[in-house]
Amino acid sequence: MKNLVLTIVFSLFLTSIAFAQTTINRDPEIKQMVDEISKDNIELYVRKLVSFKTRHNLSTQNDSNLGIGAAWNWIKSEMEKSIPASNGRLSVEFMNYKTGGEKQRIKNEIELKNVIATLKGNDPSDTRIFLVSAHLDSRAFDNSDGNITAPGANDDASGIAAILEMVRIMSKKEFSGTIIFTAVSGEEHGLLGAAHIASIAKTENWNLVAMLNNDMIGNSGSSETLLNDNMRVRVFSEGVPAFETKQMARARAFSSAENDGKARQLARYIKEIGERYVDQLTVTLIYRNDRFGRGGDHTPFCKEGFTAVRICEFNENYDRTHQVVREENGIHYGDTPEFVDYEYVRKNAGINLATLANLASAPYAPQNVGIQMAGLSNSTSLSWEEPENGKKPNGYYVLIRETYQPLWERKIFVKDTQITLPYSKDNYFFAVQSVDVDGHESEIIFPSPTRKNKN
Ligand SMILES: [Zn+2]
Repeated sequence: MKNLVLTIVFSLFLTSIAFAQTTINRDPEIKQMVDEISKDNIELYVRKLVSFKTRHNLSTQNDSNLGIGAAWNWIKSEMEKSIPASNGRLSVEFMNYKTGGEKQRIKNEIELKNVIATLKGNDPSDTRIFLVSAHLDSRAFDNSDGNITAPGANDDASGIAAILEMVRIMSKKEFSGTIIFTAVSGEEHGLLGAAHIASIAKTENWNLVAMLNNDMIGNSGSSETLLNDNMRVRVFSEGVPAFETKQMARARAFSSAENDGKARQLARYIKEIGERYVDQLTVTLIYRNDRFGRGGDHTPFCKEGFTAVRICEFNENYDRTHQVVREENGIHYGDTPEFVDYEYVRKNAGINLATLANLASAPYAPQNVGIQMAGLSNSTSLSWEEPENGKKPNGYYVLIRETYQPLWERKIFVKDTQITLPYSKDNYFFAVQSVDVDGHESEIIFPSPTRKNKN
């Protein structure tokens, strides 16, 4: 990504000074990609996925027009259309896995497939991976019924449609890091397909920086409370990590970092970058890993220690989700395509694309980010090291917020790899990210306590 306008956003104490203006400079290439996302394409994809009647995990795999097999074949062939435009950087494959058996939700062993599209980065020294996922399977009320109509238009054809648009648009562009787009099966029977990828990522030691799970991103009206809102989307992020060693727990307690885990920082990043590029959409951070007592395809990644969040519509409609398609007392039940808000899916796809493009274009994050512990002081000294891999950063952003604030309030650009600020570390939190000349920011690094003197 070259010849781009410097992208700098100053969030000037937005929460404490309500009317401070925000300067937004967009990378024109990312803006152009976000604008290319087509609501009409999204609707075509959703209706095509619904045409397979069901994508239930136990449905037929051998019919060319019906069932989950037809669905994954079609998704793969749709992704493969982007291979020529990628100059060979895009590869698409099935990832097969065996699942089911005694005491499992699927009683007999079966083989299921995930579809994986990998867009290789253009810098061979850049090993970073950014992964975006949605689930291709569907269900109605009875989760053992593989034959009943289960359109799954919103849950989760909406997410798959967003993935297909991203593959189509992003494959034409080059990024430093690698982007993986996955359409997974097995979600409705225990997050099976996602867990399979997460375990491979762990075993193979992937440098997986961020995982975005899109599950239900197209419903804008609630059941019961009858709210309507296609201007807000939720990003769920865990606070205390599901994967936490005793040592990590001690470090968290020491720094009071229960609201500063990696997933929470990723959620803040998505809010900033998503809202930078997508108009008329507010990203609302939800301080939970997922809905009350529930989980999603990002959860197995969190459990393996990766940074993963869920993107989901603000309002759910329980007359649609997992329902048998029917009319009852004048009410329509079932997850059918006429109730998906395609304009809303377009905007939600946009925050995904902008986040992935910005992350995969950015330099590596700074290394060994430390907050000085030696001595008592009302100033705060931070230091870090230039990343060893990838392109050199143009500089760094030091992020600051008061301890009770949900979002970073100030973003200070520095060229150096250290800074002393007249803010007490008792009253403020700090973090650091790298930035290139075009304004692409790396992920956000929360500092660890250090007693080492930089000089
Ligand atoms: Zn779902």
